Amino acid sequence: MSSRSIGLSEDLQAYLLDVSSREPAILARLRAETAPMAMANMQISPEQGQFMALLARLIGARQALEIGVFTGYSALAMAMALPEDGRLVACDTSPEWTAIGLRYWQEAGVAHKIDLHVRPALETLERLRAAGGDGTFDIAFIDADKVSYRAYYEEALALLRPGGLVMLDNMFRAGRVLEPDGSDDDTRAIKALNAFLKTDERVDLSLVPISDGLTLARKR
Ligand code: CA
Repeated sequence: MSSRSIGLSEDLQAYLLDVSSREPAILARLRAETAPMAMANMQISPEQGQFMALLARLIGARQALEIGVFTGYSALAMAMALPEDGRLVACDTSPEWTAIGLRYWQEAGVAHKIDLHVRPALETLERLRAAGGDGTFDIAFIDADKVSYRAYYEEALALLRPGGLVMLDNMFRAGRVLEPDGSDDDTRAIKALNAFLKTDERVDLSLVPISDGLTLARKR
C-alpha cells in the first residue's frame, strides 16, 4: 500500500522494462538511430509509447493528432495502435527530423495512416478546425514547444469529441516545476498550465508520473 508515487530507482526502472516492455523491433531501431542525436531526449520512452498505444486502443481511437513529431517514435507507436482506416495528423516544423520518422513509418506499413504537416502546428490546427474538424478526433498528444502548450491544448480540445483524450508530455519539466518562478520560460508555461488544468471543468484529469510526467485530460 502506498499513499504517494514512487520515484523509480534505476533498478526498479530496469525491472519495469524487463517485465512489461513489448517494444517492437522497429521502434527499438528508431530509438537506436535517434539516440546519438543531440536532441535525443525529446524522444519518448518505450514504456510511455506502450502506455499511449494502450490508451488509444482503450478508447477505440481512429482519428489522432500529434503536435511535435521529432523523429517519429510516438507517431509510429500511435499509428500502429490505430485501426487500418485510422488516421494520425502529425505536426512538426522540422523536415529533417520528420524525414527520419517517415522512413520507419513506411517500413512499418503505417505511413498511409499518417498525415504529416510540416509547418507551425497552430496553422495546421486552424486548418483542421476551419475544415469542420471540431469534435472529430479521439486522441491528441502534445509534445512540442512548451510556451505554446496552452494554445495547443485549446485547439486540441476543440478538435476532440466528448470522451476524447488529450495527453501532454513533460509536465514535470525534469523536476524544474519545483523551482521558484524566475526559472526558464518553458517551465513557467508548464507550471501555469498545470495550475490551470487543475480547475479546468471541461476535462477529467490525471497527471501520470510516467517518464517526465504525462497529463491525461479527458474531454467531458
Ligand atoms: Ca517530450
